[in-house]
Amino acid sequence: MTHLLDPTAGAGSSRDGLDAWRDLPAVQQPSYPDLAVLKDVIGTLTTVPPIVQPHECDILRTRLAAVARGEAFLLQGGDCAETFDANTAEGIRGKVRTLLQMAVVLTYGASLPVVKVGRMAGQYAKPRSSDVEGSTGLPSYRGDAVNELHGNRTPDPQRLIRAYANSAAALNFMRAMATDGSADLEKVHDWNTAFVASSPLGHRYEELAQDIERALAFMRACGLDLSSMPATQGVELYSSHEALLLEYERALTRYDESGERAFALSGHLVWVGERTRDLDGAHIDLLSRVANPIGVKLGPTTTPEVALALAEKLDPLRVPGRLTMITRMGAGRVREVLPPIVRHVEAARGKGSVIWCCDPMHGNTTETANGYKTRHFDDVMSEVRGFFEVHASLGTHPGGVHVELTGDEVTECTGGAYELTAEDLAGRYETACDPRLNNGQSLELAFLVAEMLQAARATTSR
Ligand code: PEP
Ligand code: MN
Repeated sequence: MTHLLDPTAGAGSSRDGLDAWRDLPAVQQPSYPDLAVLKDVIGTLTTVPPIVQPHECDILRTRLAAVARGEAFLLQGGDCAETFDANTAEGIRGKVRTLLQMAVVLTYGASLPVVKVGRMAGQYAKPRSSDVEGSTGLPSYRGDAVNELHGNRTPDPQRLIRAYANSAAALNFMRAMATDGSADLEKVHDWNTAFVASSPLGHRYEELAQDIERALAFMRACGLDLSSMPATQGVELYSSHEALLLEYERALTRYDESGERAFALSGHLVWVGERTRDLDGAHIDLLSRVANPIGVKLGPTTTPEVALALAEKLDPLRVPGRLTMITRMGAGRVREVLPPIVRHVEAARGKGSVIWCCDPMHGNTTETANGYKTRHFDDVMSEVRGFFEVHASLGTHPGGVHVELTGDEVTECTGGAYELTAEDLAGRYETACDPRLNNGQSLELAFLVAEMLQAARATTSR
């Protein structure tokens, strides 16, 4: 069995080498039982309208260029694995609200614009460490775009069409939420005030919330009508996902109107995961040839040399905002392994030639004695703190955070204000893959990161 549709369409067979990846090792691809069906599906996906537009990707890149310069902060968050069933208005609203709530707190803390990017509207494919699921012996679940979580684990190409349709619908809803008043600054702040009032650790966050309240009151007193100001009403919201399924990403890769640049139009920002970032592999090759802002995950075994080689391959022209390096080292390793990587990349390519973003989730996953995959809130925060410490000591910009979260009050990560324990996890453990911060834990993280950003700015402006 193979995942390759057209083994003859390799290097040089298409303009700009967009099919060169077909000649390269491609890991984590589904083994479809019937390639004729895949061919049919890909034929359809090649003709459907794209989910995002090239000019939107370009605008995001300019926003990210500000992050790279240290003039903005990146907030990227959403599910580990979106599912078709959970792709509801309520589910999307909850995640967008959580991102907006976090963004208000971070904007204040950083005194900088926050670039908001959902792990949403396309996060339907998962790389897996093992082909077989330990607990059941079944083939591993690889995301709703590939197979069923509760049901048939045989990869079904038709699911790619559903992934496309669900992504397009989610993005449509996100676009509406960006301008329909959902992002009203005062309303979002009111939710945060309610959170602070009800959280057992609310007193910890009260001061910052009151500072924001005072800032809003000051603006009103100056005669600024917040409810009529576009900047406090509408927001820019972007989508992102791991570009894992090569046939899917290739089918949605299109040229812009000038015909000069190809974009992966499945989402605004696409990233390569820790398991697929082989320098000479198919994923890095394909993404090196599209003009989107892109990300690459770096785990604790990454050497400084590999990090630099990846940066040079993915962003040889050093285009501002093009490349985000998403580091996920683990709370115990970040302070030791991150500095040489940052130092090496910045020394060779110049300061701020990539964005440094902290994923404090994937290096901190554990399993409880009662069999739940979890992450402790304190470990997550410890990695973020380590990330800030490293960048403070190197004089580089701690550019952003990348988190797995949901707007629902799930019980998947332990710790936090409610001090969730391993025993509590059974209450509402709903993730299809990795454990997510719930709405309250996400806000706690935002308040704590806002404090770190305030401290970082106080140091650099001195
Ligand atoms: C993920 O983001 O869900 C993931 C699998 O991350 P990583 O590639 O960093 O392991
Ligand atoms: Mn994950």
